[in-house]
Amino acid sequence: MSDKPEKFIDENGLRLDGRQINEIRQMKIKIGVLSRADGSCYLEWGNNKILVAVYGPRELHPRRLQKADSALIRYRYNMAAFSVEDRIRPGPSRRSIEISKVSREAFEPVIMTHLYPGAVIDVFAEVLQADAGTRTAAINAASIALADAGIPMKSLVSACAVGKVDGQLVLDLNKAEDNYGQADLPVAMTQDGEITLLQMDGNLTPEEFKRALEMCKEGCRQIMEMQKEALRNKFADDHLPIEVPDEIVETLDVAATLEDVVEENEGDEVEVDDSSEETVEEDPELESEVEVETGDADEYAAEEPEEADADDDILEVEEESVDLIDGEAGDEDEGVANEGSETREQ
Ligand code: UDP
Repeated sequence: MSDKPEKFIDENGLRLDGRQINEIRQMKIKIGVLSRADGSCYLEWGNNKILVAVYGPRELHPRRLQKADSALIRYRYNMAAFSVEDRIRPGPSRRSIEISKVSREAFEPVIMTHLYPGAVIDVFAEVLQADAGTRTAAINAASIALADAGIPMKSLVSACAVGKVDGQLVLDLNKAEDNYGQADLPVAMTQDGEITLLQMDGNLTPEEFKRALEMCKEGCRQIMEMQKEALRNKFADDHLPIEVPDEIVETLDVAATLEDVVEENEGDEVEVDDSSEETVEEDPELESEVEVETGDADEYAAEEPEEADADDDILEVEEESVDLIDGEAGDEDEGVANEGSETREQ
């Protein structure tokens, strides 16, 4: 392990890695990196490298572990043996079991587990390279992988930590700040700022704690923007090559051809009309036909008041149906109101 630095923040207010005290590390996100998982995400955050795979919802075996009214969430946080300076002993440790538990709890309020009774949703978070903040990095990646798997969630979850070095609060600790700092406060929250994970190591005054939470909130807001952006890009890409069925392409072609013909002939239309009028004048038989038609038209014209009546009838009927619709709507409203009051009474 590297030695404790003399100072964490220099005279310009910059940290050892050149960041401002309220600046998070660079984040890179790749979605859908594993073909066998239902959802996956590879995330780099500073020098952290995390891979998350999500499987499910799928039937839980053994069946005795199934929950009758909801899905079970399982979350496994694991550090690869090669992810840190000193080799990590493979298999679960006290630390990894604790992180797995609190991370699962960070998702329980947002995942709509009631939609999948008897099922399980498995989240595997593998730390490939660790450099402080791996639990928060894994939560950020898991959130995206869950969304990639299409798991219904009320919100994404974003996480980051605030710590204290040289008596100052700093956002998103690097390794030296994490190992030698005076405090470490990892927090996960939803889009609405609902906290789903909060742990604390070290000491903070109540005032510092309040400020630290505000800093976490701002950090999580920035991270959520990146998560959303990554998801938007992923799904925009997925839908780019739209396959249009042949029959629709043909219809489109026909429509385009017809449009072209109409456009091309637009100027000629008048001429065509003129010629047909001439024909009518020149052909007495046709003329009589036209007369008959005109006669019919006159008859219709004579019946105009009746038509108007008929229109009125239609209008009346329409008014009635409007009334009916209003009435029904009123009833519906009442129904909703009743339902609401019943719910309240309960
Ligand atoms: N670490 C390590 N060996 C371990 C556990 C942790 O080298 O067995 C390092 C690793 O870089 C980790 C950092 O210490 O990111 C901080 O660990 P912590 O337990 O605070 O969890 P994290 O901040 O990673 O969520």
